[in-house]
Amino acid sequence: MWSGSTERVGLIGWPIRHSLSPAMHNAAFSALGMDWCYIPLPVHPSRLPEAVRGLVALGFRGANVTVPHKETVLPLVTRLSEDAWALGAVNTLVVLGDDPAGPSTIVGENTDHRGFLAALERAGWTPGSCRHGVVVGAGGAARAVVYALRRACAARITLLNRSLERASSLAADLDPQIEVLPLAPETLVECARRADLLVQATPVGMWPKVQETLWPEDAPIPRDLFVFDLVYNPPETRLVQQARNSGAQAFGGLEMLIEQGARSFALWTGCDPPIDVMRAACRRALQEVQR
Ligand code: NAP
Repeated sequence: MWSGSTERVGLIGWPIRHSLSPAMHNAAFSALGMDWCYIPLPVHPSRLPEAVRGLVALGFRGANVTVPHKETVLPLVTRLSEDAWALGAVNTLVVLGDDPAGPSTIVGENTDHRGFLAALERAGWTPGSCRHGVVVGAGGAARAVVYALRRACAARITLLNRSLERASSLAADLDPQIEVLPLAPETLVECARRADLLVQATPVGMWPKVQETLWPEDAPIPRDLFVFDLVYNPPETRLVQQARNSGAQAFGGLEMLIEQGARSFALWTGCDPPIDVMRAACRRALQEVQR
């Protein structure tokens, strides 16, 4: 039962009605017998500065930050971790300072890129072995993926996005060597033929539009391509099904969600995250969301 001494963390985003993070973190706190709670905090983009200041005023120990605030929150923090700075996106805020009336430091961190690499490894794929990665999307998630790949391997990276301007800006920020192309079905198929990793980092295929896919239905996916779809609801997207039907290995984004959440949990609490508990809670929450 929560009380005046319960430690508080939350999730800032807009909208966040279907987020699995509250269930995942609250299950972890409960399993470890911790007097902490994780509260969904829907924050309209126009109110972000007030909300971040409010976290401190309300004694929060931190928060996750999700769409559409991951980039706009940057100037609102006191300090950025090296990764968050280099990546240009924040998904975790940590509030330092115990004195309720004293100064506080808000540190902006990013755990998405480590979550992505950990999820690849958990799926049995060694990121360091990547030769050529194709990343679809150029939002906050694609940024984390490109940053992670750049740090893990010397792979060639091709970035496909609807908005070429956004993709070019991502490449300019993270690595001007990245090949940037406009997203079209035939370009995707052609690029994927030359690659060994395909990462889908757009919301296409997300519940409730579960039949949507960027990969043309009449083109087989190369068997030696490893496909990673960041979408986790549903756990098996149409793209993952297409890849598996073609004999390729393919995984959805649920493990990445859990792994990035586990790293945020450790940053706030200093405790080892109970990954199995978090995974089970996410799976239960997913079933609720899809009802
Ligand atoms: P974002 O910053 O809003 O970026 C969305 C990206 O998707 C943009 O590149 C956008 O292209 C593209 N896009 C959107 N709708 C599209 C469509 N119909 N066709 C083609 N491209 C489309 O979002 P984000 O934070 O990067 O998140 C992207 C996805 O990753 C979401 O589904 C999110 O749930 C998932 N995600 C998963 C995890 C995880 O832990 N598994 C973590 C983070 C994100 P334009 O630039 O042209 O608009």
